[in-house]
Amino acid sequence: MAIALETTSDDQRREEIRTLLASGLETEVFPRGDSHDEVQSIIARLKQAGDDLKAKLVIAGFTDHTVEHGGIEQPCETCMYYLVHRRYCELPELDCPVEPEWSCRLWRI
Ligand code: SF4
Repeated sequence: MAIALETTSDDQRREEIRTLLASGLETEVFPRGDSHDEVQSIIARLKQAGDDLKAKLVIAGFTDHTVEHGGIEQPCETCMYYLVHRRYCELPELDCPVEPEWSCRLWRI
């Protein structure tokens, strides 16, 4: 039962994100979080955003497609924060369902 509820709420939240991205929400895709300082600065802003989903998507530079940076494709599915079976981003400051082909500038391998 708990698993079913979790799946439903993940699906709803994933759909909410998909709709926001498809509606043309402009997110901060670049610069990518290449350095420790850049990552810390993005993380600090995400913490300030709290539960504001739209702000979090903007700050993290979410896209509904893979972004290539420095010759490397950066989809969620190859990111260290991606939970394959749940299609979920477990980075604490994001903590949200995603799709394997989505991407954000906090991508890490
Ligand atoms: S941190 Fe990784 S898994 Fe999470 S949204 Fe960004 S690219 Fe996807």
